[in-house]
Amino acid sequence: MICQLCRNDKKLIKAHIIPKGFFRQLRSERRSPEIHTNKEGEHPKRAPIGIYDTGILCAECDNRLAPWDNHAQQVLLQNFSEDLAIYHNRQKIAYRIADFDYKLLKLFFISLLWRASISTHKFYQRVSAGPFEQQLKEMILSEDPGPPLMFAVTLARFSDPVVTGVLDPHRDKFEGINYCRFYLTGFVAYIKVDSRSVPDFMKDLYLRPDTPIKVILRDFHHSKDGVVMKDILRKSVRTHYTNA
Ligand SMILES: [Zn+2]
Repeated sequence: MICQLCRNDKKLIKAHIIPKGFFRQLRSERRSPEIHTNKEGEHPKRAPIGIYDTGILCAECDNRLAPWDNHAQQVLLQNFSEDLAIYHNRQKIAYRIADFDYKLLKLFFISLLWRASISTHKFYQRVSAGPFEQQLKEMILSEDPGPPLMFAVTLARFSDPVVTGVLDPHRDKFEGINYCRFYLTGFVAYIKVDSRSVPDFMKDLYLRPDTPIKVILRDFHHSKDGVVMKDILRKSVRTHYTNA
């Protein structure tokens, strides 16, 4: 078997694509997480130990990605305290995460997208990086997170804390710009797979070094919602900083 990262003929392991921790939190509810799809005609299935692919990585290469997977789980699977909340008109609209490492977190999303793109597992069949696959692989091999706008990452979080399942990732579009959308235990991660810049309403909302991440507390699929949210957020952040 050929490892897709090092291209060596080696024994391949059960490689997770979405790290196990993002499933484990759901499993603490004493039942296996439900894997959902919003594709027509498909029914939810139980996946007792998460989802893995036995045809993509050797153990050594999988270990290279582990620090990035670990960092993403540390940053995203924390209890979000009130100190991190951003309010507007007494309504909690976002969380601000200041404590993260751009390189590690960005490389997690780069490798997540690459792994999902090369995987032949049914769960990941609706994700493809197409002509960008090679570039993602080179970024992984050189441990280069790239500039913030390259595969820009924007995060949202369901405001409803009860999340019953994991949806399969899929392609998405905002104002004509191509994205892939991943569901990670309550989070939605939007990764830009397009050489054009981010849509206007996402201008302040993508992962950058030395800037706190703003996690919007909703799934802003429609860019109109996004424009409104961005406006509200910009005002409330300004207010927050002025008051501080
Ligand atoms: Zn390898």
